[in-house]
Amino acid sequence: MIEKIGTLIQANQTFLITTHIDPDGDALGSAFSLYWALKSLGKSPSVYLKDKVPYRYEFLPGPENVLHEIPSDTYDAIVVVDCGSLFRVGEGHEKLKEKGALVNIDHHNTSEAFGAFNLIEEGASSTAEILYRVFRSLKLAMTPEMAVNIYTAIFTDTGSFRYENTTSSAFLICEEMTRHGVKPAYVSQMVHENHPKERFLLLGLVFSSMETYYGGRVAVVHVTKEMFKSTNTTSEYTDGFVEYIREIRGVEAAVLLREIGDCKFKASMRSKGRVDVAAVGSRFGGGGHKNAAGCVLEGTLEEVKNKIKEAFYKEFT
Ligand code: 5GP
Ligand code: MN
Repeated sequence: MIEKIGTLIQANQTFLITTHIDPDGDALGSAFSLYWALKSLGKSPSVYLKDKVPYRYEFLPGPENVLHEIPSDTYDAIVVVDCGSLFRVGEGHEKLKEKGALVNIDHHNTSEAFGAFNLIEEGASSTAEILYRVFRSLKLAMTPEMAVNIYTAIFTDTGSFRYENTTSSAFLICEEMTRHGVKPAYVSQMVHENHPKERFLLLGLVFSSMETYYGGRVAVVHVTKEMFKSTNTTSEYTDGFVEYIREIRGVEAAVLLREIGDCKFKASMRSKGRVDVAAVGSRFGGGGHKNAAGCVLEGTLEEVKNKIKEAFYKEFT
């Protein structure tokens, strides 16, 4: 399939690259590295993102103009990266199917083969790792722009080289990227040590909301629209919160519930070891990876917390 995607890239000229809402480092690093790769081949790529680039990824080199509205044009190919389901591209995603041949490049184990071409490698540390292999098959010269995007994607999707997807191949690619100009300390500083202070005011409120179940093996925190308002923050400031909750001794599953509408919450879940949060997410129409998954839940905060508690029942009794 890698070769097939390579051939498809060579045979076509215009590309629209997109990824999921609330884009993370792999989503953006994948989209942007593909953008630069296509540019280096003399192609005409554009990047469409429903959301704006979160502040912690503003340092990533990308196109001068990222599109935030689905353009009226058609393209030879629409490449969706790091996105397990097409609906996660955001509102208006149905339109994409009419705009060009849909290509899906992803590493989620709950990935749906929604493209006309699907390059899905569950064992890959990140989508950027799969793209790296596509670039290799095309014998592309690695530019500094491609390198920092690939490095950051792997660095962030492996939780700074801490999660189970921190494979030898992830390290090998990152090592190679340092030889193409990437400074790991700089990337780490941009990603982890560059937060506005308001983030920590919000974090205080979110930590204070913690409830635990099953003898402290599940910890749930929440963030409401009111909390965002009182700290002058938005959802991008919660990036990383649920990982802190998982750091608590004895916690095997951590859940952050974010209010996204009337009686509607987005759950971000993380687990340690054997606990499969993708299975829990799938029960509510979501998904992800074994140790990192998400879904949308409907109900009041109390109702949603009860749904979460029940969904983990089998894992913890
Ligand atoms: P996060 O909690 O960072 O938003 O997402 C964690 C992981 O679960 C990511 O790999 C993400 O793509 C996946 N994920 C999050 N929310 C959803 C969802 O609603 N549906 C699906 N299929 N995957 C999700
Ligand atoms: Mn990813």
